[in-house]
Amino acid sequence: MTDLRDLYQEVILDHNKSPHNYREMPDATRLALGNNPLCGDKLKLYVRIEGDRIADVAFQGSGCAISKASASIMTDSVKGKSLAEAETLYGKFHDLLTGPPDVKADGAGLGKLAVFSGVREFPARVKCATLAWHTLETILKGQEAIASTE
Ligand code: ZN
Repeated sequence: MTDLRDLYQEVILDHNKSPHNYREMPDATRLALGNNPLCGDKLKLYVRIEGDRIADVAFQGSGCAISKASASIMTDSVKGKSLAEAETLYGKFHDLLTGPPDVKADGAGLGKLAVFSGVREFPARVKCATLAWHTLETILKGQEAIASTE
């Protein structure tokens, strides 16, 4: 049985109420905007990349509990990771959310991200949960950068 209580698990509600890494980052090396018009979720993602590592990551924005909690947990999950590790994590998270409903979600290696496994039962909310990750993907692929003023 899956109902809304499963979807809005306590962890998601906590992260929505007090999102981690929710701030501006004046020394970000990359910035990307994410938009999910289906739900009205918007976010701005800041990343500071040093070498091939995500030295710091932060976000700001507005949206539903799932989009905000996902961004919060995503930033916690990728901070300090290499770009390749972040890509791998994104792939696993994506599989968790889009796997067939008759196969039990495998949250192995995902840590807190596994709380989103209930979202796969609600296809309309998958975009909410993946918005922050799609935005990160834009940054990892180097499609957007902050213009240098120097
Ligand atoms: Zn949403």
